[in-house]
Amino acid sequence: MINFTIGPVQMDNETLEIGRQQIPYFRTPEFSAMMMENERILCSLFDAPENSRALFLTGSGTASMEGGIMNFFTTSDKLLVVNGGSFGHRLVELCQIHKIPFTEIALEYGQPLTKDNLYKYDNQQYTGMVLQLCETSTGVRYDMDMVGEFCQRNNIFLFVDAISGFLADKFSMRQMHVNAAITGSQKALSLPPSMSFTVMDAEAQRRCFTNKVRSMYFNYADYLKNGERGQTPFTPAVGTLIQLNEKLRRIEKLGGIAAMNEVAKKRADYFRAKIKHLPLRMFTALADSSNCVTALMPTNQDVNAHKIFEIIKDEYGIWICPNGGDMAEKVFRVGHIGNVTEAEIDRLVEVFDDLVKRKLL
Ligand SMILES: *Cc1c(COP(=O)(O)O)cnc(C)c1O
Repeated sequence: MINFTIGPVQMDNETLEIGRQQIPYFRTPEFSAMMMENERILCSLFDAPENSRALFLTGSGTASMEGGIMNFFTTSDKLLVVNGGSFGHRLVELCQIHKIPFTEIALEYGQPLTKDNLYKYDNQQYTGMVLQLCETSTGVRYDMDMVGEFCQRNNIFLFVDAISGFLADKFSMRQMHVNAAITGSQKALSLPPSMSFTVMDAEAQRRCFTNKVRSMYFNYADYLKNGERGQTPFTPAVGTLIQLNEKLRRIEKLGGIAAMNEVAKKRADYFRAKIKHLPLRMFTALADSSNCVTALMPTNQDVNAHKIFEIIKDEYGIWICPNGGDMAEKVFRVGHIGNVTEAEIDRLVEVFDDLVKRKLL
């Protein structure tokens, strides 16, 4: 089975090796020391400002999306929410559930956020903005330099869902004026699903302590206090945190964020160059595309994208990623994160060629 989905993705041998070990007890100085190192490296990979902290939540990426909305914002805030696909839509739903006032910037799916649709909100007393780094459902990478500059100019608190974009695309909390950002274990970090991580600057931490969230499990102030001694309030996915530690140390050794961005870009470029002859069209323009995923539309209107996913899974043992909602029948995606080799990409292209020969694509 070759896995080209966008999570869970193919894991490294080092990660798999740790996965077969027993899980240790965690209220120990050894575990605390490891957690302090996890925090230090995560903050450094996010290029977080001085005095930033990392928060380790057991729960998939959506848990940290929801936890962020609950802890950083209140009903007195006024948010801008970018909705350019299913993950942007999830942010809209979270604001509705938690009664955070917001304005939705609804984009046509596959389209970037432009100055035209952002700058009209200048000087209108917005206090927060939330969006993805990469909208995984379409592969759009938003212009975070533009967004950060806009937020700084308007004194807006910027919370970024970098769950899929982290490690694949350029991202710097300092340069992009980001107050808080999240990623998840099963995306580019290539760990088992189970945890998500939030890096917060001093302002984000201040909000957690003053906002007094009505929740026990999502009380970030409690996590921040426990984190001072390298612990979490409740039992975390201990095994994943050990795998995270090995992976973070390895990333540092391999050259950090720049090296990881380069690997992802090289792999995305390699795939996109290899499919030029196929009857497939990129759903998102190359210039707006993330390195993490390529969303593709069969050029033949009669071809059902979900059917292609099924045939490739059942007949060739390869998983590409189907789309949900309105895009399900028109778009499928190929992920570029995780431990995927060029030989495996070649194999997928051969399969597409075979489908063309069989007149299925
Ligand atoms: C994967 C992903 C999430 C989280 O999804 P979970 O299934 O909850 O892990 C959130 N946002 C983006 C952009 C993602 O790609």
